[in-house]
Amino acid sequence: DLSSIPVLVAGKLHEHAIARIRDTFRLVTIEQIDPSLLTAEMRETVRGVAAAPVVGGSFVGPQFLQALPKVEIVANFGVGYDGVDAAYAGKNGIMVTNTPDVLTEEVADSAVGLLISAIREFPRAEAWLRAGNWVTKGHYRVTPLTLRERRIGIFGLGRIGLAVARRLEPFGLPIAYHNRRPVEGVSYTYHSSLKALAEAVDTLICVAPGGAATEKAINAEILAALGPTGVLVNIGRGSTVDEAALAAALTNGTIAAAGLDVFADEPNVPQALLDAPNTVLLPHVGSASVHTRRAMADLCVDNLVTWFSEGRARTPVAETVNVKAR
Ligand code: NDP
Repeated sequence: DLSSIPVLVAGKLHEHAIARIRDTFRLVTIEQIDPSLLTAEMRETVRGVAAAPVVGGSFVGPQFLQALPKVEIVANFGVGYDGVDAAYAGKNGIMVTNTPDVLTEEVADSAVGLLISAIREFPRAEAWLRAGNWVTKGHYRVTPLTLRERRIGIFGLGRIGLAVARRLEPFGLPIAYHNRRPVEGVSYTYHSSLKALAEAVDTLICVAPGGAATEKAINAEILAALGPTGVLVNIGRGSTVDEAALAAALTNGTIAAAGLDVFADEPNVPQALLDAPNTVLLPHVGSASVHTRRAMADLCVDNLVTWFSEGRARTPVAETVNVKAR
């Protein structure tokens, strides 16, 4: 009987996920992912957690997990789980799940939209129209940048990166990528370092996960390697980019433009990126359609349901694939 199992929703979560948890388990909630908000009863009883830790903000780390000695599973809302210390969870027998696949196509669509917007200046062209400039001043400027004849580099050719590559293939653009390991069965050119990839392309699309391994990987050196017609699209995590170096590169012509959906300290966007005319900036909306967010909510909760009813998670993260139900 799942209805007696206390499952904690920590912080803001999709309404459909909360409703399903309420209908299936014994729902308990706290406003933020903060161990000081846990009641004594929660500390003694909670066996599952569902959360959507936000980048730069809340974090499901050792302190939070230690406050919940009976916790068996943390169901992360989102495929990126840099907001959960999965290595710590894995070592301590706690399952961590994420929401892969159900958002892949949506995020890839968003990446292509952001790429074209940044290159062809669609947001600025629309602002021109809405300001009445088309009537008073005439046509918006002919864009210096084009997608034609570009060479695409994908940093993080995983589920989403592959979906981006498959979309760009029929655009007639050559595609290269960097991962720690080459992907079998793809024809795209592999580069064993991000530097080598950046030297070989002029358009870098980042879909790599956040976390320590990719922290500020896209730095001044990588941006210089992209060159003066360079375009950066980041739909992965803001932590992967050295934002100060990016702002400088956009301002002094080291690269030409950037399209960013993610930032290091969301929801705060560095003023220099806001001021730069050659940026297209989105408030982390890569997966944010009603359709896809509902599918993410369902997968997030399905993991809790299969864990407590069948003793296995649907989509465990790599660090915890071997963690078994107690
Ligand atoms: P995958 O795990 O399928 O792909 C990640 C890819 O990155 C893999 O190919 C992996 O290859 C590569 N990678 C991981 N670490 C490194 C590293 N240190 N150096 C080089 N390459 C690395 O994940 P998804 O495609 O499903 O998602 C990718 C990321 O996209 C998520 O982690 C999330 O941060 C972000 N995302 C953003 C969204 C948004 O709204 N903007 C929405 C959804 C996801 P290898 O292991 O061989 O290195």
